[in-house]
Amino acid sequence: MKTIIEPFRIKSVEPIYFNTKEERISILEKASHNAFLIHAHDVLIDLLTDSGTSAMSSEQWSGIMRGDESYAGSPSYYRFKQVVQDITKMPEVIPTHQGRAAEKILFSILGGKGKYFVSNTLFDTTRANIEFSGANGVDLLCEEGKKPGIPAPFKGNIDIEALELFILEKGANNIPLCIITVTNNSGGGQPVSMQNIRDTRAVCNKYNIPLFIDACRFAENCYFIQQREEGYQNKTILEIANELFSYADGCTMSAKKDAFANIGGFLAMNNPKLAQECRNLLIITEGFPTYGGLAGRDLEAIAIGLQEVMDVNYLHYRIRSTEYLSNKLIAAGVPVMQPAGGHAVYIDAKAFLPHIPVDQYPGQVLVGALYIEGGIRSVEIGSLMFGKYDENAKLIPAAMELVRLAIPRRVYTQSHIDYVAEVIIEVFEKRDELKGLEITEEAPLLRHFTAKLKPVSQ
Ligand SMILES: *Cc1c(COP(=O)(O)O)cnc(C)c1O
Repeated sequence: MKTIIEPFRIKSVEPIYFNTKEERISILEKASHNAFLIHAHDVLIDLLTDSGTSAMSSEQWSGIMRGDESYAGSPSYYRFKQVVQDITKMPEVIPTHQGRAAEKILFSILGGKGKYFVSNTLFDTTRANIEFSGANGVDLLCEEGKKPGIPAPFKGNIDIEALELFILEKGANNIPLCIITVTNNSGGGQPVSMQNIRDTRAVCNKYNIPLFIDACRFAENCYFIQQREEGYQNKTILEIANELFSYADGCTMSAKKDAFANIGGFLAMNNPKLAQECRNLLIITEGFPTYGGLAGRDLEAIAIGLQEVMDVNYLHYRIRSTEYLSNKLIAAGVPVMQPAGGHAVYIDAKAFLPHIPVDQYPGQVLVGALYIEGGIRSVEIGSLMFGKYDENAKLIPAAMELVRLAIPRRVYTQSHIDYVAEVIIEVFEKRDELKGLEITEEAPLLRHFTAKLKPVSQ
C-alpha cells in the first residue's frame, strides 16, 4: 500500500513562535501550572484541543464571503439546515453558537432535581450543564473502555446491561434522556459501534426514554464503523451517518469539531413540541431561530464543512495521522490508550507516572512537563477535570488519568507530529524526576479551565 498523504495543499500559513526551555519554565509558573492560562503565542505545537482549531478550506472561505447576514430567514440558514437534514434526517434544526449552548437549552428544559441523564460518557460541558440544572449525569461505559492498555474496536460503547439495570433501579420516569457521545471524547476518542447504538435504541424503546446523540465527531465515528464493523465496508460515510442518526430522537453538535468551523453548533430533533420549547429559550439566549448566535457566514462555513468531513480520503488521512503518533509512542514503550482515538492520542498518565498519586494530579504534571520540554500544549482528562470531593473534602478521583493530545484538523504536518513524539519520548525517559501538584484555587464547576496549582511541598 502507498503512503497516505495529506489530502490538501497549503496556501496560507501562520508562523510558530519559538522560545527556550528556560522561558517556558517561568511561563508555566506564571500560568499557575495550568496550560489553559498560557498565552497561545508561547506554545509551539498546540494540541490543547481540536475544537475550533481546524484549518478551513478555500471552499469554506468562499462560503464566508457568500454568507447572508439577514436577521431573519437568511439563505445561509436554509443551506445549513438542508445539509444538517441530509445527514440526520431530523426535521427540526436549531443553530447555536457552540455545542454547549445547545446543551444548555436542552438540559434547561429536560433537566432538574432528581433526574438522571445516562450516557456512555458525558463530555465535561455536557455533564456541567446537566449538573447545573440540578440533575445527575451518569456514565455507563463498557468494561473494555476503562482499560487504556487493552485494544478493542469499539471502546466507546455503552454497557447495555448496566443501562437497563440503572433504568430499573432509578425508574424510567426519572430518566429524561439517554445520550451517546460519538466518538467518546472523554473516554479516549473511542468509537461506538452501530450495533451498540441499535441495542441502546432497543432499551430506550422498552422504557420509553428518548435517545440523543452528542454528534461532535459523527464522521470520525462513522469512518471507524466503516473500517471495523461487519457489513459497513461498502457503505458511504453519509449512508452510515443516516443509519446512525435514524436510531436517535435528536442530537447536539459542536461545529467546532467535525464541521471544521471555528465557531458554531446546533440542536436537531424530531419532536416539534420540544423544538418549539428550545426555540423559545434560544431567542432569549442565542438569537432568532434562523441564526441562533451565529453570523450567516458561520452557517455557510458549517454547511460546507459538514459535507467536506464525510470525504473518505480526508477521514483516511485523519485517522491514520492520529494512529501514526500513537504507533511511535507505543514503539518507545509510552503507555497510551489503545487503539488510537479518532481525534487524539491519550497518554495513560497513571502508568506513565506511577510514583505520583492521583491526588497530586499526575495528568496535570505530565501536561506541564510536555510544555517545558518542547512547548507542546496538551490537556489533562483525569481528576483535575472530573474529580469531586467527598464530605471530608477528600478527592474522589476520576476513573482514568489521561493526557489528551488533540490533533487539530488539517493544521499540522507529519514533521510536526514527529517532533511531538520526540518530546514525549524524552520526557518519558526522565519521568522519575517529575513531582506532584496541588490545587491552590478552583471554581465550583469546570474547575480545570481556571484552577491554579503549585508543586507539592515536600
Ligand atoms: C466540544 C464538545 C462539546 C461542547 O461543544 P462546544 O462547542 O465546545 O461548546 C460537547 N460534547 C463533546 C463530545 C465535545 O467534544
